[in-house]
This record gives sequence, structure tokens and C-alpha cells, in this order.
Amino acid sequence: MEDCIFCKIASGEIQGLRIYENDETLAFMDIAGDVDGHILVIPKKHCKNILDCDSETLSAVANTVKMVSDHLTKNCGYDGVNILNASDESAGQSVPHFHIHIIPRKRDDGIDAWPIFEGAKEDIQTVFDKVKM
Ligand code: 5GP
Ligand code: ZN
Repeated sequence: MEDCIFCKIASGEIQGLRIYENDETLAFMDIAGDVDGHILVIPKKHCKNILDCDSETLSAVANTVKMVSDHLTKNCGYDGVNILNASDESAGQSVPHFHIHIIPRKRDDGIDAWPIFEGAKEDIQTVFDKVKM
């Protein structure tokens, strides 16, 4: 997609630190510099987010997330990973090309990668009645 920064990284038009790629997906370093080892996994085919992503593309991305996570923990000295995603601006998505964040973790690394919520406003039964499938 024209004017999409991650499409340009996927095609090589813009440089990225490419960790792993296959025909459908690319894993590369996030430039945020916020935490050591921050990695993004994207589909090479443009889709905006998980809500706009076909199941084949989603499964290719999930498999690459798993492959990179295995590599980090088996070969790179990490113990675990946080897997994060924001789908839609309402959820904090800032780049409108589907991406999964991988944050490599070590025991006692002191990183707080989990959001601190401020307390539910609706009771659990009300929400359950709304979201039950
Ligand atoms: P979001 O807020 O959409 O979940 O995450 C977007 C991520 O993309 C951010 O962590 C941000 O640092 C990263 N990012 C934005 N522009 C670029 C770029 O040009 N190159 C790379 N490697 N990462 C980027
Ligand atoms: Zn794109």
C-alpha cells in the first residue's frame, strides 16, 4: 500500500533491521528504543490490523511470532516473551499496518510490560452478557 511505512520496510524500500523473513511475513527491530530487543512481526501483504486480516495471513504471522519467540528463548538467552498488539486507534494502534510486538524477557529484568488498568466500570455479569458468543 502506498505511503505505508511497514509496506515500505517489507519491500525493502525503507531500511529495517530484518531478523527473519519468509514469503508472507517479516520480523524486524522496532526503532522505539524503549526496551531491549523490541521486535515487530508483520505480514508482507498490507492489512490494517487483526480486524482486517484474513485467517491465512493471521496464521502466517502467528507462526512467525512463535518461531522468533522460540529463537529468542532457545538461542539468545531470554526466558520468555510478552506478545502485544493494538488493533484500531481506540486500542492505541499508531501504525496502520498489522503488527505484533515481541518483547523478550529475562527473569527479574524489572520490565513492566503489562498495562496497569484503573478498575472496571461495569460489573462482570453485565459485560459477560454483552460479549458472550
Ligand atoms: P503501535 O503503536 O501501532 O502498536 O506500534 C507501532 C510501532 O512501530 C512502535 O513501537 C514504533 O516504535 C514502531 N515504528 C514506527 N515507525 C517505525 C519505523 O519506521 N521503523 C521501525 N523499525 N519501527 C517503527
Ligand atoms: Zn502496509
